[in-house]
Amino acid sequence: MHAGFYGREPRNVPELELVIVGAGAAGLSAAIYAALMEINFVVVDAEQGGGLMTLAKTIENMPGVSGKRGPELTQTLIEQLERNGARVRTFEPAQELRFARGDLAVQTSRNAYRPKCVIIATGLELLGLREEYGVEGEREWLGKGVSYCAECDAPLFRGKSVLVAGNPFDAFVLARVAAQVTYLGPVPEEFRSQVPREILEANDIDYIEGDLQRLEGGTVLEAAVIDGVRRPCDGVFISRRKAGTEIYADAGLKLSRDGFIETNRAMETNIEGVFAAGDITGEPWQISKSVGEGAVACLSAFRFLTGRRMRNLGWALQDEWEQAGI
Ligand SMILES: Cc1cc2nc3c(=O)[nH]c(=O)nc-3n(C[C@H](O)[C@H](O)[C@H](O)COP(=O)(O)OP(=O)(O)OC[C@H]3O[C@@H](n4cnc5c(N)ncnc54)[C@H](O)[C@@H]3O)c2cc1C
Repeated sequence: MHAGFYGREPRNVPELELVIVGAGAAGLSAAIYAALMEINFVVVDAEQGGGLMTLAKTIENMPGVSGKRGPELTQTLIEQLERNGARVRTFEPAQELRFARGDLAVQTSRNAYRPKCVIIATGLELLGLREEYGVEGEREWLGKGVSYCAECDAPLFRGKSVLVAGNPFDAFVLARVAAQVTYLGPVPEEFRSQVPREILEANDIDYIEGDLQRLEGGTVLEAAVIDGVRRPCDGVFISRRKAGTEIYADAGLKLSRDGFIETNRAMETNIEGVFAAGDITGEPWQISKSVGEGAVACLSAFRFLTGRRMRNLGWALQDEWEQAGI
């Protein structure tokens, strides 16, 4: 992946129209649309770009790319972006967002951008990837038995034995395919579905309580140690996620109770000209949803930019367009 700058000089728009913050599945999708639509834009990423998708061992549930490795899909999207004349500005984190009406500012580690609109696609943080939060062995067997996504990885555990330590919903997804599913209770408070033990058991999900101390294995995960007892299993599903950072609240964005950015179906936030897409808008946390929302956010941004230019030219077509759903 190249560090660098957007390459395409849009023919008729000299000003910076759009900043896309984050170049994971959602941000790359928005950027590909922006490049194809000749929007004058910049896409920045705090790291290399690609986001969480780069950690996926194999992707089975993204229509059209079944069996691809995460890094391969990332490369495909980056190449598609570059073929259309744009590049990700890597290792350029956004540090401050200031959104006054009609005056948007994105301060990154290197630049102060003043775009006409912004798409936030910064994803969420998986706490298990941080040393201080993860269970011992969690990162070691990530993709080799440890999973953060039941909807993504359930087919890999067909006929196997799995432990779910987190979202009870994952246990229901896995109960369809795995030979044995054990839920490690009690259900953490952060999950809305506080499913009682009897309901889990009525769905062929074993219920135990205890403290998950560490994971053990060889080339793949073999067991979970709970309250000092080694329990053999092929998979462990852990899901501890954290949304957003203070920069969103400080910028005046409306957040959900659990910290995700609220949007409508057009991916508009409560601030005019600011859109959000991907994991940062909340569940489900999936590549296909992120890619779809990135595309919608970019189309909405284009409509916003065009309506604004019309108004500046003295036309008032915006309302008619909105009624026509353009
Ligand atoms: C191990 C694993 C396997 C998975 N497998 C699958 C699967 O098989 N199928 C599936 O559908 N989903 C899968 N997922 C989930 C999927 O990867 C995510 O839902 C999806 O990639 C989210 O994309 P996103 O663009 O919204 O966010 P992210 O991928 O999190 O991307 C956000 C980007 O924003 C950047 N960023 C963050 N903060 C800033 C900032 N301040 N300034 C600039 N940039 C910033 C980050 O560096 C990152 O590149 C998996 C996830 C994991 C962890």
